[in-house]
Amino acid sequence: MKEEGCIFCKIANGEIPSATLYEDEDFRVILDLGPAAKGHALILPKEHYPNLYELPDELAEKAVLLAKKMITKMKKALNCDGFNVVQNNGAPAGQTVFHFHMHLIPRYEGDHAGFGWNTGELNAADREEILTKMQKFS
Ligand code: AMP
Ligand code: ZN
Repeated sequence: MKEEGCIFCKIANGEIPSATLYEDEDFRVILDLGPAAKGHALILPKEHYPNLYELPDELAEKAVLLAKKMITKMKKALNCDGFNVVQNNGAPAGQTVFHFHMHLIPRYEGDHAGFGWNTGELNAADREEILTKMQKFS
């Protein structure tokens, strides 16, 4: 299933050219046009699913295995020192293209990719509230 007007559908299926690192029947892995660091890549399924909630389990399993395979190979090829594997769901989480994708971001000692978040502290009220709410959905 493809979504009309979705740029990642077009890229994943080769209608728009891309710097492709890997391709199989389910996925294409491309270089991000706005890299957070040198070698920043994206795993794109060829079928359109907006986010991880809606991605079928079979593709989710394959995507994680592909991420492992790609970062193992890229680590050797690029000689980077680490990797962030990131996947955003929803605009408040930073998603800007609403076709599921995983970011593979090589990290280098001393780079200024600036990736991270401000940390708080888990308080007792939040801990109890979250544990209680989650139990209702187990
Ligand atoms: P997200 O914010 O998680 O939705 O990530 C979208 C990513 O897609 C960003 O890192 C963009 O730089 C990247 N991007 C957007 N359009 C293109 C494109 N045409 N080719 C490659 N990467 C793209
Ligand atoms: Zn799409």
